Amino acid sequence: MQDWINGKIIDETEEGYIILMPKAEEVKEFNISECLIKLQSPSLITEEQRKKAWVLIGDIAEGTNRIGRFKDAVHKEMKQMFCEQNYITRFSLSNCSREKATKYIEFLISYILKNDIPSEAANESYDDTTEKFLYARFMSNKCMICDADCSRYINVDDVIEKDVAPGTLEKGDKIYCLCDKHADYLLKKGKRIFEQVYILEPLVVGENMINKIKEGRN
Ligand SMILES: [Zn+2]
Repeated sequence: MQDWINGKIIDETEEGYIILMPKAEEVKEFNISECLIKLQSPSLITEEQRKKAWVLIGDIAEGTNRIGRFKDAVHKEMKQMFCEQNYITRFSLSNCSREKATKYIEFLISYILKNDIPSEAANESYDDTTEKFLYARFMSNKCMICDADCSRYINVDDVIEKDVAPGTLEKGDKIYCLCDKHADYLLKKGKRIFEQVYILEPLVVGENMINKIKEGRN
């Protein structure tokens, strides 16, 4: 039997919290009379994050033909890459911060997308194929239309389309990241025609994209 069954707080009353424990198969044979509540710091990695990271690592291992016991090696390798890219020291998925876990998961997803590794867990985050594709382009700093590097960000949130400095992007903004040629085309023809020609919808800026910009593109 595993060490922990994950319960969750479903309500808060004056007397205390009401906690739900799922009906796990392995629990049935035990006579449960009491339990310990593990208090987790809000700043620490969550169980869900840890699970998600390992699923993604498993997908990378499988996608690169290194299954089974090589999962640990893949994790080590990915972690090292992540640390080098972000100039951080080594960390462990057992006790790292929630923020670091979020970034590491994001890093794993973008690695999967960039390398075309089959992964349901990564796809869950980006259901729509177009969005997934645009997101991968953004993360790898490529023009969303062609193979040139992205040199401009066009915000199409307003009535008019305009160039914006990456540092000014905010969560929820709708953008295209484009090379000079395609940015000029969008500004000249307007959003409606641009989207008809390329059959695209803008990418909505999320927190991970902002983090990526803040860290500097690499
Ligand atoms: Zn282009």
